[in-house]
Amino acid sequence: MFKLYNSMGRKKRRFKPMDENSVRMYACGITAYYSAHIGNMRTYVNQDILKRLLLHDGYKVVHVQNITDVGHLASDADTGDDKIRAEAEKEHRSMREIADFYAGIFIEDMKALNIMVPDVMPKASEHIPEMLNLIKRLSDKGFLYQASNGIYFDTSKFRGYGKLTGMGFKQLNNSLKEGARVEKVEGKRHATDFAVWRFAGQDEKEMVWDSPWGRGFPGWHLECSAMSMKYLGEQFDIHCGGIDHLQVHHTNETAQSEAATGHRFVDYWVHENFLTVDGKKMSKSLKNIYTVKDILAKGHSASALRLFMMSANYRQGLNFTFEALSGSESELAGMYSLMERLSSVQGRAKNDDTAEFKKSLRSMKKEFFARLNDDISMPEALAAMHSLMNAVSARLGSGKLNRAEAKAAARAMLEMDSILGLQLGGHYRGDAPPLGKEAKALLKEREAARKSGDFRRSDEIRDLLREKHGIAVEDTKAGQSWHRTPG
Ligand code: AMP
Ligand code: ZN
Repeated sequence: MFKLYNSMGRKKRRFKPMDENSVRMYACGITAYYSAHIGNMRTYVNQDILKRLLLHDGYKVVHVQNITDVGHLASDADTGDDKIRAEAEKEHRSMREIADFYAGIFIEDMKALNIMVPDVMPKASEHIPEMLNLIKRLSDKGFLYQASNGIYFDTSKFRGYGKLTGMGFKQLNNSLKEGARVEKVEGKRHATDFAVWRFAGQDEKEMVWDSPWGRGFPGWHLECSAMSMKYLGEQFDIHCGGIDHLQVHHTNETAQSEAATGHRFVDYWVHENFLTVDGKKMSKSLKNIYTVKDILAKGHSASALRLFMMSANYRQGLNFTFEALSGSESELAGMYSLMERLSSVQGRAKNDDTAEFKKSLRSMKKEFFARLNDDISMPEALAAMHSLMNAVSARLGSGKLNRAEAKAAARAMLEMDSILGLQLGGHYRGDAPPLGKEAKALLKEREAARKSGDFRRSDEIRDLLREKHGIAVEDTKAGQSWHRTPG
């Protein structure tokens, strides 16, 4: 049974999709006006883990994640310039070039982090008819009015506005008014009201469209409602996004979607917490960002970065430091090394406790999935994986682990990695050919040399095995053990 925390209602709930076998999931994508930073990427890694878990649980997952290429203003609360328009002016490029360029980098970064690319990545600018249609439905139902710079949604007309936040209408309005900069818009009725359509200025030529409401472009909140409903239906299972989207963006998405359709929009709202630097949210405006490429350029691997991102539960903040990333690098090296060692275990000796050993592997693997099925408690799941790794290493170290047991251990690791996505499979060559005659004879000779105290010869053979046969020998209490070296 999978329990998932639902921001709507603020409770962990048993997950039950609308269709028995498939899950429809939407994630707010990036606004493509800069190279996404590793804070953004943490959110997408967390969503990827959720998706992989659903796939592992046997569901088909339809995953939609938009690309915002117009309409996201400098402040999420609908004020300031369009972020992409402003960047296009700064870089002297077209808005489309800016959006395509940064969306391309984002997809490369997703792939580097082994994030499964969503099934559909709709661009806002390619869904204007759907957005105008949604505006018409809202207009026909009397939810909209015109203010000086656009068509606004009257949040006082939607009963339960703000239910995602746990705050009432008045409280939300007050909190917005108290908040930093609320730009005065002539004719705007409430602080929480938001534009579904913004009128274009005289000099705005690109990414503007004619409409029954005048020449302009859609509001950012409206875009996600229109695109999610187009690809997933008017009601779907999971809507994800960073925690910063809860109070305004998702609150407004809910209001306008439910106002238009007259029924619930989303069953489970999932919000991922921030990656921070010195306790502050990583964000472009604070100039405390690193991109995936920055991290790779410093010699770290994308898989270590992914593992680092898993070191806290998705609902908790995670502070980024290079020391912590190096810690994840070593942790990952430990996983890879175990997989490599498991690849080369050849012993066929019968152990009388094999059944017991395999049972303990199963129970640790079960614990891993049980922790994940409890609202994706990743640090606890990883702890279960490490217990399994320790048990396997101990048995390897004592020279007892035989080939069948090594295969069972590797299979368990690979199943866990279907969620973690750390590429452990690339370090497992379980089906590599058995040892050749010469290597076997050398191992035997070395064992005998050690027993007779001829350490010079035993060291010579060790070097020979490594150089000529790619085999690393270790001396354990139970005698020598060996594994193939990577490469
Ligand atoms: P944006 O392009 O600003 O819409 O952000 C894309 C996604 O990244 C959204 O889901 C944001 O909530 C999320 N996000 C932004 N900053 C951070 C951060 N520091 N840590 C985690 N997620 C973030
Ligand atoms: Zn969105």
